Amino acid sequence: MTNSSDRKGKLVILSGPSGVGKTSISREIIRRLGAYFSVSLTTRPIGAGEKDGVDYHFVSKEEFERALADHELLEHACVFGNYYGTPRRPVEEALAAGRIALLEIDVEGARQVVRHFPDAITIFILPPRLEDLAKRLNARNRGEDEQARLKRLQRAQEEIAAAAREYKYRVVNDDLNKAIEEVIQIIQNEPK
Ligand code: 5GP
Repeated sequence: MTNSSDRKGKLVILSGPSGVGKTSISREIIRRLGAYFSVSLTTRPIGAGEKDGVDYHFVSKEEFERALADHELLEHACVFGNYYGTPRRPVEEALAAGRIALLEIDVEGARQVVRHFPDAITIFILPPRLEDLAKRLNARNRGEDEQARLKRLQRAQEEIAAAAREYKYRVVNDDLNKAIEEVIQIIQNEPK
């Protein structure tokens, strides 16, 4: 197994509350830095506009549990009642090839990855204000009921509190282009 001393690439972990703009930022990291985007396994249903194998590998609970039992996952977590996990092999291969491997995962998953890769570049994206976050979550409305929406918001607040303690970098997304530049600078300035 690859360990932190012989790998050549950079492992980047991007976290933040739902609706904060992580996906837009990730897209630019991939485009501009040629990063490998880690496609997670998830048991949640596929959303409108999402592609299986591109946004996620959409799997059954049984398939997820098999991957977990076979030690195929670098980390995993339960988010909003669904399982999410990072396939280990492609991340290790990207790093061994000297690439940036980008993981868009939650706080719990980030903790697990940092245990294996202590020098991972951990970046938390913050909303400028919580009211803005609430508005964005409303606007995105994925057909959730009020209770699910509130749950999402509560989780966002918990994640923000955790971020203050645990992430190496924090970037406020009040202007998407500025946030992208900041994240790219952070990644480029970190040694391999
Ligand atoms: P969504 O379902 O909205 O795409 O993602 C919900 C949450 O799950 C987000 O915070 C996202 O970062 C997180 N997530 C996505 N993939 C993974 C993964 O592989 N592992 C972990 N721990 N969290 C993930």
